[in-house]
Amino acid sequence: MKNIVLFGPPGAGKGTQAAFLKERYQLIHISTGDVFRFNIKNNTTLGILAKSYMDKGDLVPDKVTIDMLKAEVDKNLNTNGIIFDGFPRTNSQATALDAFLASKGTQINAMIALEVPENLLVERLLKRGLTSGRPDDQDEEKIRNRFNEYQNKTAVLVDYYTAQNKYYGVNGVGSIQEITDRLCAVFDTL
Ligand code: AMP
Repeated sequence: MKNIVLFGPPGAGKGTQAAFLKERYQLIHISTGDVFRFNIKNNTTLGILAKSYMDKGDLVPDKVTIDMLKAEVDKNLNTNGIIFDGFPRTNSQATALDAFLASKGTQINAMIALEVPENLLVERLLKRGLTSGRPDDQDEEKIRNRFNEYQNKTAVLVDYYTAQNKYYGVNGVGSIQEITDRLCAVFDTL
């Protein structure tokens, strides 16, 4: 399996690009945000819990997020690889993911990070909020809080994967196709 963490701040384009990579390389795409939103829509216990954090732009606690992620991976081990989108977002999520994948005889091959300046991100998220129906995309204060969470808890993961020689930064500004091409150029070397 070739497994990648598709990384970047909110609005970097992870979901959009994951959809293309998934098609091209026949991968499974696991977005923890999407799984939470599915649970919210279906009013599950997990959804109700997650919503109380997501609506404010806070991260959902590690334990529930990690348990949910493991269950998703378990369902999808028979594949060319997995694109992790929106996970890991904290150091303990990253260490839990490494240990879990190792126990399944596989690993993360690369963290590919979409690099986009913050002013462009806010613009993209507010624009997405007009059609996504996501409450966390519609309010600039919530968006700012998501960036704070990213800076305080998630950005350190660049060091985590750099230390394992697995970090690849990609320019996330340009047309969707240009960015897909940049990501594929990295993926093809793995
Ligand atoms: P996303 O769709 O990746 O932008 O995630 C939307 C929201 O879901 C985040 O703002 C968090 O509240 C929650 N979430 C998604 N993934 C995680 C994660 N790995 N850890 C904690 N919270 C998460």
